Amino acid sequence: MTMKEKLAGYTKAGKALLAVNFYNFETLKGLLLAAKVTNSSLILQLSESSLHYLGIKPSIAMARAMLKEFDVEGWVHLDHGSSIEIIQQCLDAGFDSVMIDASERPFDENVRITTEAVKIAATYNANVEAELGYIAKLNQSQEFEPTRASDAKRFAEATGIDALAIAIGNAHGFYKETPRLRLDRLEEIRAEVSCALVLHGSSGIPEEQLQEAIRKGISKINLATETKNTFMKRLQSLLADNDEIDLRKVFPKAIDAVKDLIVRKLEVINI
Ligand SMILES: [Zn+2]
Repeated sequence: MTMKEKLAGYTKAGKALLAVNFYNFETLKGLLLAAKVTNSSLILQLSESSLHYLGIKPSIAMARAMLKEFDVEGWVHLDHGSSIEIIQQCLDAGFDSVMIDASERPFDENVRITTEAVKIAATYNANVEAELGYIAKLNQSQEFEPTRASDAKRFAEATGIDALAIAIGNAHGFYKETPRLRLDRLEEIRAEVSCALVLHGSSGIPEEQLQEAIRKGISKINLATETKNTFMKRLQSLLADNDEIDLRKVFPKAIDAVKDLIVRKLEVINI
């Protein structure tokens, strides 16, 4: 099944897919171990900086090989694509889905760029996600203006996107204080648009709020920061008092930490 079909089906059914970023072989392996033991489907995401680090072709080849190896249903998605060029490169490389993020541009420009991405992706039968409203980037102020339902409706209709990332009190990175999602606004948006709704910045959102957000219409939940943090924190503690040079003896424990984190997330999300 294509990601486009899967996400549309989940949106209709009121269920959510977990979309997790990976950064290297080790984090990818942790994600797949978790999907395997919970029998879950998974969206594997890469940001532009991860693509820069790994290379576009090695990224998708590794993701595909690992999905096959672990016999997990999954797809590869570009997270926060900033230009049509990177969208085109990822689609050419075989990505199942791309995000075009022109959310910091004026509304009409966001519509124009997103529409162009939708048009290109159609020839690949790929899924397209866009963003409307301001979701704070890492280290930016987390004050926000939630996405308006009427804007979401206009945007979705004008662009023909498959998925829309909305701002409802969520932010990237860790939260300084426990977030309170604007679930009322989510309900208003859900009532106006039929495409999938995406929640970015789920690291640190309490479990009950994640589940409530799914019940009220979120069908893709993005997770990045917690994975990175879990992997590196575990590695730091493993290496603090250790002169082991065989990385194959050290990394598996950090992989297991990622696996445990994602198993818990999948248990929360697979409601
Ligand atoms: Zn994001």
